[in-house]
Amino acid sequence: MGQNDGDGYCECVNCKKFYPVNDVPHRFGSKDRSVLYLQFCNKIAEGVTKKYPEATFTVFAYNHTSIAPKNFKLHPSLIPVITYDRLNWVDPERKAKDMIRQSSWSAIAKNVCWYDYFYSNQYVLPRVTSHHVARQLREGYQLRVRHIYIEHLPLGISGFGGNEQIWAEGPLAYLVLKMLWNPFQDEDKVLNDWYETAVGPKAAPYLKRYFDRIEEFWLKKMPKSAWFKRCARTYLVPTWHDYLNVIDKDFFEECAKDLDKVCELAPEGDCKKRAEYFRFAFLNRRNRCEYWLQNQNVRLHSADAFTKLFFKEDFNRGLNGWGIYEHRKYPGKFVFHTAKDGYQNTGAAELLCRKGHTGGIEKTFHITRPMNFRIEVRYRCVGTTEKVIPYISAEWCDDKNEILHSVFYSDIHGVYSEDWATAAFNFTTPYQLPGYLRIRLCNSGSTKGKVQYDDVIILEAPKK
Ligand SMILES: [Zn+2]
Repeated sequence: MGQNDGDGYCECVNCKKFYPVNDVPHRFGSKDRSVLYLQFCNKIAEGVTKKYPEATFTVFAYNHTSIAPKNFKLHPSLIPVITYDRLNWVDPERKAKDMIRQSSWSAIAKNVCWYDYFYSNQYVLPRVTSHHVARQLREGYQLRVRHIYIEHLPLGISGFGGNEQIWAEGPLAYLVLKMLWNPFQDEDKVLNDWYETAVGPKAAPYLKRYFDRIEEFWLKKMPKSAWFKRCARTYLVPTWHDYLNVIDKDFFEECAKDLDKVCELAPEGDCKKRAEYFRFAFLNRRNRCEYWLQNQNVRLHSADAFTKLFFKEDFNRGLNGWGIYEHRKYPGKFVFHTAKDGYQNTGAAELLCRKGHTGGIEKTFHITRPMNFRIEVRYRCVGTTEKVIPYISAEWCDDKNEILHSVFYSDIHGVYSEDWATAAFNFTTPYQLPGYLRIRLCNSGSTKGKVQYDDVIILEAPKK
């Protein structure tokens, strides 16, 4: 019986009776609504178990209901689902905090469920933490964890974009499923069995070393990253990739050497095919990681590094061939051109804000050579609510205008400004060339007013 994902708890007099007397945020940052929520769940459980005594229900230990209320009488058919990305446990402080939640629920429930977040392919570097997970499951069993739910998408199938359907995590899913049957078995035995079956006994030690190296990164290096510090919340954020900033220089080369060895030693047939598959998956990820690092580096280049003009648009002759995209519910309602307005009153593109929906204009360029780019765009917000977000993005597409999921987009949110302001960022070409660069100017986040764009300039510099 899941609750609201976020805020929005009833504030009527009846419901407020179940608010805490001292209604301040609890130690994990949200205001406590656990009694309000659980008394509701209790009533449902009471009613249903009259007819179906064997029924059990899950209730979520999440956000506003993270911590169990003290001395609360939880209906015995209710099982708390404690949500947390337990890779956080690599930090003893975070683990200790999580244990406080854990014991608050153990105090009122017979047993509990864990909800975890692996996510998988949204991480550009495979998130393989097999030994860590095995230790956790053992500990969990002792903490009376008898159910588990994991957001794990090893083949990248989900509602999110940006996923590739490549199985890059090797034995992780297999190990977790095995350990759930018996968390006290030797995880190395399970893993070795998987490695040997996958690529044969001679190649297995190298495949093991490859995945162990990745795990070592997640357990030893990653916790030192700014990314980890920034992600002190329920789940770590898979779509920010700056954990890559702490990766060792020779990391990818060492991985590649191991996988070459795996391919060399795997016997012909299925083992060889699998060996090649893992190497292919790795090389693909290596390209993406290295591209992300390059792009990161180029973002820091100063504006004067970009001297050559690549493209210029002043919107003095209408939208001048820019493509329009609008919310499909409101065609013809978002994107306009104004002849009089603009930075020098000689014309601008105008994007109306409606009910938080996004509208925008875009332009695509065929790029054949490696290059670094800088885009600068003038904008201003007119009559909008403060939350309006001008948004400029540079994406890489294939010849069918489909986004290349194998590379990343670069973007920037303009700071709200009623005066003309400039948003700018640098980015680089992907490893797959030729490709199509798609520049988009959008708005969102306001129910009224408009954002005007003017003077788009793209500069280029050679890529070293
Ligand atoms: Zn109410």
